[in-house]
Amino acid sequence: MRGASVRILGGGGEVGRLSILVKLKDSKEGIIVDSGVNFDEEDRPIFSSTYPPRYVNAIVLSHAHLDHIATAPMYFISETPRVYATKPTSRMAKLMLEDFLKLNGYFSPYEHYEVKRLLENVETIRFGQMVGVGNGTYTLEFYSAGHIPGSVFTVVNAGDIRVGITGDVNTIETKLMKPAQLDVIGRLDVLVTEATYGSTLHPPRRKAEERLRHIVEEVIDSGGTVLIPAFSIARGQEIMMVLAERDYGVPVYVDGMIRQVTEIFMESREYINNFSLLKKAYEEFRMVQGWRDRNKAWRTPSIIISSAGMLKGGPSLYYLKRMGQNPRNAIVLVSFQAPGSNGRKIVEEGVMPSGEPVRARVEWIDFSSHADWKGLASIVEKTRPSKVIIVHSEVDVAREYARRLTSLYDVDVIIGENEKEYVFEP
Ligand SMILES: [Zn+2]
Ligand SMILES: [Zn+2]
Repeated sequence: MRGASVRILGGGGEVGRLSILVKLKDSKEGIIVDSGVNFDEEDRPIFSSTYPPRYVNAIVLSHAHLDHIATAPMYFISETPRVYATKPTSRMAKLMLEDFLKLNGYFSPYEHYEVKRLLENVETIRFGQMVGVGNGTYTLEFYSAGHIPGSVFTVVNAGDIRVGITGDVNTIETKLMKPAQLDVIGRLDVLVTEATYGSTLHPPRRKAEERLRHIVEEVIDSGGTVLIPAFSIARGQEIMMVLAERDYGVPVYVDGMIRQVTEIFMESREYINNFSLLKKAYEEFRMVQGWRDRNKAWRTPSIIISSAGMLKGGPSLYYLKRMGQNPRNAIVLVSFQAPGSNGRKIVEEGVMPSGEPVRARVEWIDFSSHADWKGLASIVEKTRPSKVIIVHSEVDVAREYARRLTSLYDVDVIIGENEKEYVFEP
């Protein structure tokens, strides 16, 4: 009987910067699942810890968000470990890591060369696939995590211990995503779970969609323009799909990195829930090609879906500066807004980045791509682990989620701490 250990290299008591090492208890060699970054108040990257690259049998990238991948190229400074990722994840990882280096190259210990080496070492995986790693020491299994297209829920079989790692996970159906494949994972010994929303409930998606359509109709009817700042990956495309169901009688523009990601999704049919709706949006909406288009889009009644989702930069910030002073317009936020971001400031303080008051209507709708606490609990219900490690969560939220879990199930709950290693015996 062989035990296994789980070490938290990042994501303990914090949302993001996830990195998990799973290995046999007495072995040096192991599997890394995710290797991400966080950002400090000045928007500088904080990298997760790494494990000596020569002992890394494989790196799994659960999905392409920077808080799961942007430390991973560090492993390619001295070694070339095998990387497992789905096709959409590896294609988006290229886009995201190159953009990350453009903005943060000064702070980064790796360069484009290491990103290239990482991408060259990707072995493409599919949902339901099993792979042996380290001469069969470990078996990896991959299931859909329901978070964004291509996101995986990873199971690492180490000795006699079956460890499941959610990555980021969603358990509800949206137009873009089918829910996580919880019914086929089977029983786990240890569940390493994200708990971003471990103490909250999201409104039903249908309600969020209705509210968005209603606001858009009101603003367009009164001759205004709607700006919808959205994350480039998944949120932007989901909003496109919600709007494609109806004709609002005005052009819909799509701007920023959302465009490139939409092109990747158009070639990732098997990872999209309602592909024909995405196709309709892609064909009918106008992709903003440059400054001439951009300068035209906001001047007449229209709907503009644009990155960046928190108005930190990108074309959405350009549009905000031009549209935010007109009371006929609306800014509809559909993404998480970090404290201190421009998006949070217009919602909570009603001020533009310039400090002037916002005169446009401001709305914030919850379209989260993370499971809420009941969704998270359903993962425990279906995989019946004896131990749960909570990561990718604020400490207070993790404590509250732990309390709820232990009141519902017969399970030991650990609030994961960075740099700690937890050992499990069969
Ligand atoms: Zn994340
Ligand atoms: Zn994510």
